[in-house]
Amino acid sequence: TRYVYRFGGGVSDGGQGDKNLLGGKGANLDGMAGIGLPVPPGFTISTPVCALYYEQGESFPDSLKAEVATGIAHIESVTDKKFGDAADPLLVSVRSGARVSMPGMMDTVLNLGLNDDTVVGLATVSGDERFAWDSYRRFIQMYSDVVLELDHGRFEEALEIAKEDKGYNLDTELTAADWHALVAEYKAIVVELWGKPFPQDVHDQLWGAVGAVFGSWQSERAKVYRRLNDIPGDWGTAVNVQAMVFGNMGDTSATGVAFTRDPATGENAYYGEFLINAQGEDVVAGIRTPQYLTLAARERAGAKPASMEEAMPEVYGQLADVFDLLERHYRDMQDIEFTVERGKLWMLQTRSGKRTAKAALKIAVDMASEGLITQEEAIARVDPSALDQLLHPTLDPNAPRDVLTKGLPASPGAASGYAVFDSDTAEKRANNGDSVILVRVETSPEDIHGMHAARGILTARGGMTSHAAVVARGMGRPCVSGAGTLSINAKEGVMRVGQREVKEGDLITIDGSTGEVMIGEVPTIQPELAGDFGTLMVWADKVRRLKVRTNAETPLDCRTAREFGAEGIGLCRTEHMFFDAARITAVRQMILADSEAGRRAALDKLLPEQRKDFTEIFEVMAGLPCTIRLLDPPLHEFLPHEEAEFEEVAKAADLDVETLRRRAAELHEFNPMLGHRGCRLGVTYPEIYEMQARAIFEAACDVAEKSGAAPVPEVMIPLVATKRELELMKAVVDKAAQAVFAEKGRTIEYLVGTMIELPRAALRAGEIAEAGAFFSFGTNDLTQTTLGVSRDDAGRFLTTYVEKGIYARDPFVSIDVEGVGELIQIAAERGRATRPDIKLGICGEHGGDPASIAFCESIGLDYVSASPYRVPIARLAAAQAAL
Ligand code: ADP
Ligand code: MG
Ligand code: MG
Repeated sequence: TRYVYRFGGGVSDGGQGDKNLLGGKGANLDGMAGIGLPVPPGFTISTPVCALYYEQGESFPDSLKAEVATGIAHIESVTDKKFGDAADPLLVSVRSGARVSMPGMMDTVLNLGLNDDTVVGLATVSGDERFAWDSYRRFIQMYSDVVLELDHGRFEEALEIAKEDKGYNLDTELTAADWHALVAEYKAIVVELWGKPFPQDVHDQLWGAVGAVFGSWQSERAKVYRRLNDIPGDWGTAVNVQAMVFGNMGDTSATGVAFTRDPATGENAYYGEFLINAQGEDVVAGIRTPQYLTLAARERAGAKPASMEEAMPEVYGQLADVFDLLERHYRDMQDIEFTVERGKLWMLQTRSGKRTAKAALKIAVDMASEGLITQEEAIARVDPSALDQLLHPTLDPNAPRDVLTKGLPASPGAASGYAVFDSDTAEKRANNGDSVILVRVETSPEDIHGMHAARGILTARGGMTSHAAVVARGMGRPCVSGAGTLSINAKEGVMRVGQREVKEGDLITIDGSTGEVMIGEVPTIQPELAGDFGTLMVWADKVRRLKVRTNAETPLDCRTAREFGAEGIGLCRTEHMFFDAARITAVRQMILADSEAGRRAALDKLLPEQRKDFTEIFEVMAGLPCTIRLLDPPLHEFLPHEEAEFEEVAKAADLDVETLRRRAAELHEFNPMLGHRGCRLGVTYPEIYEMQARAIFEAACDVAEKSGAAPVPEVMIPLVATKRELELMKAVVDKAAQAVFAEKGRTIEYLVGTMIELPRAALRAGEIAEAGAFFSFGTNDLTQTTLGVSRDDAGRFLTTYVEKGIYARDPFVSIDVEGVGELIQIAAERGRATRPDIKLGICGEHGGDPASIAFCESIGLDYVSASPYRVPIARLAAAQAAL
């Protein structure tokens, strides 16, 4: 097998640029070289080597040495320089690059190949001594950090002291002699910390760096990133070795990052930042404030320093051409890294740019309208889960706000929470249920867990492409970055703007769309659902086959869901209606009654209330199908649990406390999830289901009478295990229906069916379908009963289970396709065999999960049902599943 693939100088070994083999960075470097763009020559060590490296106890396969030598020879021949040559040395970068980009997660070493001899050669050839020594100190610093893993604080400290001694503010003020002196200090630090002199042999340097890149794949921060993003640990990273080009060769040199469209809004305008006389990560590291790429952006921001468009018009023009070429080639918005060396443009990276949900939507719709991609591709481009961001409220523009300061609008959306100043605290407080805003001077990869736990992120430093901004956009967290007037003292747990102070635990609000930071909590308003969102939804609705319903039991939820496009109710849980303060007393009387007559008396009080619930819901749903589940939870859930409550409840229910206590004790169950609940209630107390059925049909008749749009009630019997249970309950429902129809003088179309939530029901679906006209897969309980895992108790071990790969994903979030999925498939097949037109749907929380929706499509269910806010997600996911 071949391990090394060359690119640049007219060579492109990678061919079609296979990301799995070459990693994203390597494949696209190869791709850019292939279409004739100026890419510094280099080679890629493929991703399988990473796995081999770990399999063989962190050593390289035998043939790699020779292949790397060929790769170096390729770079030497294109650049006409020699690696390690004292007169005209070749310098390289060693860069990681996994299949999918893991921003800032992996390490890169620049300027490799410098030593005490080659630095002199570099100074001579470049005619710039300052540049040569600046590069050498950068190299020692980076290599010591990334490869030798020495404390980088020591190097930074030495640099700070050198600057202070000379009275400098910026790195750019240091002279050749200053850098020279600093290199000597750096080398001394290496000897002190590492016990050996800094490696002078350029080949040792190279192999050390290659090993470090592979090593970084198993670093803690890389592991955390993979876990949060579902990236398998066995993919490995590729290593790219590439000739250096220099953005730090004076004022005609620069380095920058750019997006071909605005990654925050999606606007079709170039977007980016650059720094003159700088190298590599200087732009994102927030060492100097970067300058804007375009004149328009600079003017809009009211910034002074010249944009690239003004400062380097010619190179800017070339860069703009490259942007267009890359967008057409990759047919997507690109995130680009470039360097200008003495007026010549070099491309160092391109990839599909990360973007906010809003931008993803706009870019997909725009590109389809521009004819760059098809409508189907546009549908496939938008991550359904990310729509969540757009569907949630934004700050009410009319609400008073107490603006503390303003930073950059780095990731849109608004969030309120308690200010916290470190990631561990953020995680801890979030775990306790608090909303927190993580406030940092700037973030680094060590902050990932805190950023994840926070509702929003606020930084004092860094631009729109800083770590905080990029990661926040990826996670869908609102972010305000570079709020320069903020002074943060994390140790004391306080931040200040002028005289004003915010302490840890104070409420603040950030608006990532405007950059505003406010004291206190600011009220929010609902999002706009027309525009690009509406357009994409129309396209999605054209291609999807699955219907999308909602899980809702209040008129408000039903209205929200209909606005979001719900085509019916898939699950209306009736028990929530019983908790209402005005009704709970009647419910308790019903439970506490010791005879049928007593229960009926209490149920008679509930009937009009329940009828009102259904009337309102049917009115909102205007003729759409509504699946209503009859009472499901164990009765004791309605009784008081606290001793203190008993007296009050007894009084309200007109009972003595002792009776109440005794009855509560009788109702106690050891395992209520598997206890007296679901249709078992209906079997033992049919009058409960009878009242509910009566309320449903009376409401349906009334609404049909009033509005002419008769609803289609689908009465659902929960927790059925056997055909007989369903038969008995269906008889109760049918009898109530006939009685109501006779009284009202009209009939309403309705169905009686069941939830499939027990394995026995799934297996016996063939005969159960004889008694019921529809199945709704209650995958929350079906997952609990199939896996034998109680969802409420799973927290203690499920994370470990997922970490150890026992379940690929949390089975309560995404259907366990192999186990629960097979039962669903069996039930669907057997149900259809008995009753070919049986209606099949899913009403667990999985109904709003894109992966589970894809499964539902694959087995041909009729609909999915999701909570109101997830309805658009389900519509888009259903469309993607149908593509
Ligand atoms: P990351 O994946 O963290 O972005 P990269 O491998 O892209 O790491 O390297 C970071 C930065 O280093 C790049 O954006 C680029 O500016 C600089 N860099 C990498 N390779 C070279 C090179 N051969 N010449 C000049 N600069 C380079
Ligand atoms: Mg990096
Ligand atoms: Mg990069």
